[in-house]
Amino acid sequence: MRREHAIARGLTTYGKEHVAHAEPGAPALEVRGLTFTYPGALRPALEDIHLKVERGEKVALVGPNGAGKSTLIKLVTGLERAPGDTIRIYGQLREACYHRVAYVPQRGDVDWRFPVTVEEVVMMGRYAHLGWLKRPRRADREAVMQALEAVGLADLADRQIGELSGGQQQRVMLARTLAQNADLLLLDEPLNNLDVPTQEMIFHVLEDLAAQNKTVIVSTHDLGILPIHFSRAVFLDRRIVTDGPVDEVLTAETIARAYGVRLCTDCEEEEMIQNALRGVPGASARRR
Ligand code: ADP
Ligand code: MG
Repeated sequence: MRREHAIARGLTTYGKEHVAHAEPGAPALEVRGLTFTYPGALRPALEDIHLKVERGEKVALVGPNGAGKSTLIKLVTGLERAPGDTIRIYGQLREACYHRVAYVPQRGDVDWRFPVTVEEVVMMGRYAHLGWLKRPRRADREAVMQALEAVGLADLADRQIGELSGGQQQRVMLARTLAQNADLLLLDEPLNNLDVPTQEMIFHVLEDLAAQNKTVIVSTHDLGILPIHFSRAVFLDRRIVTDGPVDEVLTAETIARAYGVRLCTDCEEEEMIQNALRGVPGASARRR
């Protein structure tokens, strides 16, 4: 009973006895009829979401500010509680599969003043396997060092996270998910305010993960990167507006909606798409 209670609260020790095996052939993520309202909110942040992501897919989650991208990611990772049996991970109830899911939070959601070292943050990824009360073993320390090397931060292992640059902090969070060796990775706006080399490094790591049949979901409002790095995009605006190949999802209308602008005339459509792909938000459209 106590164990069930702990699992329901997402506080499992993640010890081996708690690990639910993936159901053969089940998608990495399946969301069925998910509607979610924050306590006290007047309307749902998400409404009737249906989404299936197969193993090995790399999916972009796009949409305007307030569309519910972070909310959906938090529900999948268990940081917010989803109603009923609306989310399945590898065919299993989400609560039994937290160890399989890793999360890179939006930068603003992390208190970077917290007094921990880079190595300690990345070790947190290992606790999914260790259990909270066990001490890290050599294999755990090796996994941490490997993850730090993969993101080019091995030299900074002993630094306090607060001393790092924004790009380095983002790499620490990515290293934490690598150390966890999860199967489904969710990254919430991981590219915000990063220089191009750091963005490319992150994409390189994500491509490696996809090659290992890991599943990656990345929320972003940078539509310019979609055609280069993703084959599928899901456009969210409280509901799923479109879901499909990037060129089908990136229409003038969805681009305008993502950037909070309104189209003026049809003839501006092509120019607007081109500008958006070059990273010039709303360059040819009038702000609402
Ligand atoms: P996005 O990540 O797409 O910008 P969010 O998921 O952060 O969107 O927000 C979706 C909606 O839920 C917004 O209207 C936002 O104000 C609201 N919201 C987000 N977090 C909370 C919260 N903790 N409590 C209440 N409302 C929230
Ligand atoms: Mg967000």
